[in-house]
Amino acid sequence: MSDALPELNPPLRTLMGPGPSDIHPRVLEAMAKPTVGHLDPYYLQLMDRMQDLLRQLFRTKNEMTMAISATGSAGMETCVVNLIEPGDSMVVCINGVFGMRMADVAERAGAVVTRVEKPWGEIFSPEDLKGALAEAKPKVVGIVMAETSTGASQPLPEISNLVHDAGGMLLVDAVTSLGGMLVEVDAWNIDAIYSGTQKCLSCPPGLSPVSLSNRAVESILARKTKVQSWYLDTTMLANYWGTDRVYHHTAPINMTYGLYEALRLILDEGLDACFARHQKNHEALKAGLAALGMEYAVELSHSLPMLNAVRIPEGVDDAATRRALLDRFGIEIGGGLGAFAGKVWRIGLMGHASRQNNVLLLLSALEQLLGDAGISFDAGASVAAANGIYAAR
Ligand SMILES: *Cc1c(COP(=O)(O)O)cnc(C)c1O
Repeated sequence: MSDALPELNPPLRTLMGPGPSDIHPRVLEAMAKPTVGHLDPYYLQLMDRMQDLLRQLFRTKNEMTMAISATGSAGMETCVVNLIEPGDSMVVCINGVFGMRMADVAERAGAVVTRVEKPWGEIFSPEDLKGALAEAKPKVVGIVMAETSTGASQPLPEISNLVHDAGGMLLVDAVTSLGGMLVEVDAWNIDAIYSGTQKCLSCPPGLSPVSLSNRAVESILARKTKVQSWYLDTTMLANYWGTDRVYHHTAPINMTYGLYEALRLILDEGLDACFARHQKNHEALKAGLAALGMEYAVELSHSLPMLNAVRIPEGVDDAATRRALLDRFGIEIGGGLGAFAGKVWRIGLMGHASRQNNVLLLLSALEQLLGDAGISFDAGASVAAANGIYAAR
């Protein structure tokens, strides 16, 4: 007999990074339910129900609303490869990692890409886009609503009007925003939008909710070339998600259980209450961090409620401090990406992780660790400041 293989024993963490976020126990329980077939009547009914819940969350009537069987990046790829044919013009707004990724995906799909760039942490005004829209006459304009690499929140309604006045379709990355702040697909006239399960939906990574407007669907049906990706071709996926129920690929059944339960949790809480909770915990964290002398990497007027990007205090070791948070407190926060690497911490308050417990625990832990690093502040002031926000009516 050889030695027994090690048992699977992942540590219990508090996930306060840029995703994955803490998962509600009900979601994990749902995922452990019996697997049925992907054409089982029970599963088909569940797909219908899930589409309905996704429409409620996206605030849309879009027929073509479904979950792609892969992570958020596959949602991005789905929208791009279906809307773009080789040679099509696409404008991509870049102010962080995920705008850069979208431009890369678009180029691989054969788009002629015009990049409109802003410094990391800034957001786009309609003015910033006018020139590029006039010159490039894009079929599609891509923009990130919640740029997880910088913590910047991008308003969409005015930009949407501008894009449509110029004859384009608006493609929105809502991976981090969906479930944590208002996303109005119909009211803001968004043509294509994608999200992911492991940010504010608090599900494990593995599915990507996507919704396409009728205009987007018509443009896909009018394509002269086949969609470059077999797996992500929405015209074939529609035959599985629609009434025909034609096998396309084996759906990740138990992930669907998880997402269904996660959506139920959000809609039971109520969208307004859920968004208000995200905002409140963000304000409490912000007050606590200010008491520690820590500053946001973005202007406070457009900082996201679910992703707090803060400058690492002078003299504090980035990697060692994050490692100590993990080892001593079981807390995961994110380091900086790209231009923010080594300079910024990304503290997520996403979905089930957006709770008082997490805010107060992290602030207490930071007081210990920053104190050890010789940073001076009034002991206990950060927790008191956060409690001040919770006490306010
Ligand atoms: C996380 C994220 C993605 C990518 O999602 P994956 O699930 O990691 O593939 C895309 N856009 C934004 C804004 C994100 O935060």
